[in-house]
Amino acid sequence: MRTVEYQFSLRPYRLPFRAPVRTSHGVWSERTGVIVRLEDENGRVGFGEAAPIPWFGTETVEEIVAACGSLGERVDERRLDDLPVALRCLKNALVAARTESVTPQNPAPRQVAALLPAGTPALPALRGRLEAGFRVFKWKVGVGDVADELAILDDLCGELPSGGRLRLDANGAWDRRTAERWLARCAERPVEFVEQPCFAPGTGASLGAALRQRVEDLLMGLAGDFPTPIALDESVVADGDVDRWLGRGWPGVIVLKPTLLADMDGTMAKLAKAGTPLVFSSALETGVGAKRALSLAFAWSGPSLALGFGVWPLFYRPECEGPTAAPFVRWEDVQAINPEAVWNALS
Ligand code: MG
Repeated sequence: MRTVEYQFSLRPYRLPFRAPVRTSHGVWSERTGVIVRLEDENGRVGFGEAAPIPWFGTETVEEIVAACGSLGERVDERRLDDLPVALRCLKNALVAARTESVTPQNPAPRQVAALLPAGTPALPALRGRLEAGFRVFKWKVGVGDVADELAILDDLCGELPSGGRLRLDANGAWDRRTAERWLARCAERPVEFVEQPCFAPGTGASLGAALRQRVEDLLMGLAGDFPTPIALDESVVADGDVDRWLGRGWPGVIVLKPTLLADMDGTMAKLAKAGTPLVFSSALETGVGAKRALSLAFAWSGPSLALGFGVWPLFYRPECEGPTAAPFVRWEDVQAINPEAVWNALS
């Protein structure tokens, strides 16, 4: 059977962040990744972005560049499909580059959550973002003293207008007791969900099966014991994680960074069937990956919560950005992202 052959090229990039990102793995000061370009025999050109986050257990940029080198300048589609799933960001990019366009399930604008800084600076930030029209907020917790943060939680909830919602993201910082204390406190408050209360595995692959089982039992238990939904983020970083959690009957929310999974189409089909509420979230990629990720968010047919894409401007290069953070993203904003402009800017 004849397969489609492509002309293949790539542009590795290195883009400093305007504001370095503090993570549990230290300060993240620049985005590195690879933009891929595929041109088929009819001259149709597509772009994709491999934007790995190695501390989420993905491959590294070096591994992506090496794998691209082995593909050569002319490559047929079977070769692309046969790349190992361990190169999941690259596989994702190569699917994106071959995807004609995505039809939105519903072209209505999607709400975006505003990010609040940790600690007391969250309060003035909340007021500013409320004025800008945001109604869903994400606040990083598990950073300071628990009692201090719980007091700030009350202040934040006091500022929220009716219908406003607050998400808490602990990035796995809490032990069981602390998580229980927080979840008990959240029960009567406008908290949309608590994201990853316990356990940020870092490199999921290196985690022993017994420990993983224990942590997953703990998260299942917390989800069953408290009314506030729990969202999984660091616990869902590879395609297989989704299967495992669906197999356990996960009753909460899942935060998906579409850029980090090899097979988003397959994953979304399974999640839609299970009716899992999803938060589509940024991996701090350029406009190329963001266009794909946001297109998938618009194509999602299951229960959807405000997007985790209130991140731009991220870089010093305006050509490389996605739509500037606003309370809503419109389908036109997604269509307006020009991957070729990013490609040209990175030459
Ligand atoms: Mg998170």
